[in-house]
Amino acid sequence: MRHPFPPPHAVTELNALEHLLEQGRGLLRADCPLHIPLNGHSLPVWCIELGSTAPDAPVAGFFGGIHGMERIGSQILLAWLESLVARASWDVSLQDLLQKVRIVCLPMVNIGGLMLNTRANPNGVDLMRNAPVDAHGFTAWPLGGQRLSPRLPWYRGHTETLEPESALLVDIVRRRLLNQPFSLAMDCHSGFGLRDRIWFPWACSREAPPHLAEAVALREIFNNTYPNHDFYLMEPQSLNYTTHGDLWDYLYLEHLQQSQGRYFLPFTLEMGSWLWVKKNPRQLFDWFGHFNPILPHRLKRVLRRHLTLFDFMLRAAASWEQWLPRQEEVRRVYRQAGMERWFAGKA
Ligand SMILES: [Zn+2]
Repeated sequence: MRHPFPPPHAVTELNALEHLLEQGRGLLRADCPLHIPLNGHSLPVWCIELGSTAPDAPVAGFFGGIHGMERIGSQILLAWLESLVARASWDVSLQDLLQKVRIVCLPMVNIGGLMLNTRANPNGVDLMRNAPVDAHGFTAWPLGGQRLSPRLPWYRGHTETLEPESALLVDIVRRRLLNQPFSLAMDCHSGFGLRDRIWFPWACSREAPPHLAEAVALREIFNNTYPNHDFYLMEPQSLNYTTHGDLWDYLYLEHLQQSQGRYFLPFTLEMGSWLWVKKNPRQLFDWFGHFNPILPHRLKRVLRRHLTLFDFMLRAAASWEQWLPRQEEVRRVYRQAGMERWFAGKA
C-alpha cells in the first residue's frame, strides 16, 4: 500500500516536537542543523539538548527514527522528553540531576524516511549500513548491507561520502559525546523479534566488544535496580546478526583509537515488534504495522514501557563513576562473566 505524501505539518511527530519545544522553553536548547529537501518541502532535523552546560559533563545521547518507518522510536523519545519537561518544573531531584548530566537528543534522524514511511532515507540508503566499516567474517546478504541497488533493502549507498543524515549524526556524536569523560548513546529501533532487546555495539564482528566489561556492569545495575523489568534481553548484537556500515561501529572504532581514558558506550534498543503483530495479526497486511503498534492501548503501553529505561540511562550517565569498573582486576571479572554468558567462555 502506498501512503500519500503528507505535508510536514501533518506529521504527528513533528507536531509533537514543536509542542514540546513550546512547553520546554527555557529548559530545552534546540537547533536545526540540517534540512532535507523533499517534494517541495524543507524538512527539519532537530537536535535537542538539556541539562548541564559544563564542558566536561557526562552526556546521555538518545537517537530515534534512523529507520524512517520505525516511528515508534521517535514517539517514545518524545514521550520521555515530554515527561522530563513536565517534571523539571517541580521535581527537585530531577533538577539536581540535570545540573550534573547533559542530554543530547536527535529524535527524528531520518525525517525524509519518516515522511515517506520507508526504512531508507529519500536517496534509498539505509543509514545503518552507510558507514565506511566492513564486517569481519560471514554476514548474511543482503541484510548485512548491499551495494547493488537502492531499490533493494539494506542499500549501503556510496560510503566514501556519508548521506547528509548520517553525516549529521556522526558530527553531533563526535562533537558532543566523544570528547566527554563519559558518554553513552541509546539508539531506538523496532522490527526485530518477539522480545525487547538492548544490544551492545560491535555489529561488525562476532568477537566480544572491547567494552564488554562495562556493558555487563551496566546490565548488572539495571537488573539489580529493576528486577521486574526482565522483559529486556540485554546482549551483544552479533549474537543475532552482523552488518556492514553500522554508524555506531564507525564512531566506536574512531573513539577506541583516540579515547585517552574517556568512555563512549553506544547501545541500541530494538523493540520486539513481532509481538504486536502476533497479538494483532491484521497488522501483517500493513507494512507500517510490522514496525509499530497500531491499536491505541498498545501504543500507550509501549510509550509507557521504556520511560524507566531512559531515566535509568540518564542516571547511569550522571553517576558513571559509581558503577563503571575501572580497576583492571574488576574489569577482568566482568569481562569474564560476559565471555561465559555469550561467547562460550573464550578469553
Ligand atoms: Zn531500525
